[in-house]
Amino acid sequence: MTGTLGTLISEHYSVTAYCNGCGHRAEIDLEAMARIYGDAAAVRGSADRGPARIGGRALVCGKCRARNTALRISPGGLPSGRL
Ligand SMILES: [Zn+2]
Repeated sequence: MTGTLGTLISEHYSVTAYCNGCGHRAEIDLEAMARIYGDAAAVRGSADRGPARIGGRALVCGKCRARNTALRISPGGLPSGRL
């Protein structure tokens, strides 16, 4: 899916980033991201089409520094799982 940080926050989505290199995962703090990139920053999640991007920058894994990451975007109020 594609949205903006503002949309994801207002609709209470949660976004989790996964590293394809080492398996590390982390929930993304959308409000912190919005303070950095702005509410209008585009968010695209993809499991198999290359690095996920927020605000035009590839996420970097905090554990192994790989840029091979994917985002999972989950609707708020639902258990995170497959979309
Ligand atoms: Zn990693």
